[in-house]
Amino acid sequence: MRLSSVPMPIQLFDSLTRQLQPLAPSHADGVFRFYNCGPTVYAPAHIGNFRTFVVNDLLRRLLELEFGPAKVKHVRNITDVDDKTIRRSQEEKRALGDFTKQWSDKFHADCAALNCLPPHVEPTATGHIAEQIDMIAVLERKGHAYRTADGSVYFKVGSMPDYGRLSRIKERELQLGSALSGKPQTADADEKEDGSDFALWKAHKPEDGANAWESPWGRGRPGWHIECSAMSKKHLGETIDLHTGGVDLLFPHHENEIAQSECCNGAPFSRLWYHSEHLLVDGKKMSKSLGNLYTLDDLKAKGVSPMALRYALLAGHPRKQLNFTLDSLHAAEKALATLRAFRATLAASGSRGDEAVFAPVFAALHDDLNTPAALGALFTVVNRGPAGVDAAAFDRVLFALGLTLDAPVAPKADIPAAVAALAEKRWAAKQAKDFAAADALRKEIAAAGWSMLDRKDGYSLEPAKK
Ligand code: AMP
Ligand code: ZN
Repeated sequence: MRLSSVPMPIQLFDSLTRQLQPLAPSHADGVFRFYNCGPTVYAPAHIGNFRTFVVNDLLRRLLELEFGPAKVKHVRNITDVDDKTIRRSQEEKRALGDFTKQWSDKFHADCAALNCLPPHVEPTATGHIAEQIDMIAVLERKGHAYRTADGSVYFKVGSMPDYGRLSRIKERELQLGSALSGKPQTADADEKEDGSDFALWKAHKPEDGANAWESPWGRGRPGWHIECSAMSKKHLGETIDLHTGGVDLLFPHHENEIAQSECCNGAPFSRLWYHSEHLLVDGKKMSKSLGNLYTLDDLKAKGVSPMALRYALLAGHPRKQLNFTLDSLHAAEKALATLRAFRATLAASGSRGDEAVFAPVFAALHDDLNTPAALGALFTVVNRGPAGVDAAAFDRVLFALGLTLDAPVAPKADIPAAVAALAEKRWAAKQAKDFAAADALRKEIAAAGWSMLDRKDGYSLEPAKK
């Protein structure tokens, strides 16, 4: 469903051309192909990671509204083998697959709490070893890769004349004095022909334990970058419409993905690239050593709802660094309560109106995901009141932002869906000051064995005392 009231296509700032570019499917089937680098699963993702995933979820939702749900294919991988996953699994004396499953399950649960839509395909690196080996073999055959004495394989950066287009590394290196053609810079670089070459295949080392796969070059495991090239190709084809991730991935990860994919396939890799900025905490980079790293569970323990976190993460412009504070979560809870009350009055008034009142919201979102402007435009409508506002159009705005306005329900017991639905209805009736309906619903809830406790900004449900 194309939103008739939003004349502007979705535009994103493309990191490759450094210009705003309109999004459109390039394949004849009209399906927009979108790849988003996923998490490395060795610990719970932190709220900085979730900033990136929430921004990508916003994008996914806007794409669905623009092109139709069946015309968007969203792939996001799971990095389930790398130095960190191997080392941590060994510290815990657990098999790698068993260890990473725990953290990908946790990631999925957190994504669901933040109302992020699951990608259409979620491939894992270990599930695509053969595809990665195939690509490396082609690169070797075409003269873009070489093996070293220990049985590793490296990509030969010098074999690609236009390497560095995305990060403009050559321009930067010229200013800084060449590191591109410089000496080996990393610990395991002794055997590399050039310091900027990167690993496609890593020969097995004793510290890798049982985590190795057979290959034409002997036992080993893939390098990090090749997984995304291989999984993107397998699930989206050689040329995709959009590739995204946090800014830290631009170099070397995405630069190297371009090199591998284009040298292997002989076709352009991604038409557009989008990078969102980092989340800072109290003005500093989030890190373990500074003790300012938060997970969703840390915030839940402070009584923060995941939806408030989602709102707070959306409140900053995705391409600007966002300074996270606990105060921003309080502001988010208040904003959600205002939206919840507005929806209840809309529902009660059965308002039909013009969806065009929300055009400025979508116009802002289509303009490089300008979420602060979009939320500003949304509250302009909300503050004017429900007259002439279309309830379905308001729901579409909520869908785009991925905001659910269920009143926070204390997760003390498993609440049956029917009871939760009655509670939602009663809350809406109360907001609309239809106290007769609210009372009747309270009785129905009580008859089902539950009691509803009201607060100013929401309610909770508890099993009725016998
Ligand atoms: P990782 O699990 O480390 O591969 O990271 C998953 C995603 O989170 C990547 O797209 C990173 O760019 C992104 N990311 C990492 N740190 C932050 C941060 N502080 N703020 C926003 N995004 C981040
Ligand atoms: Zn990637």
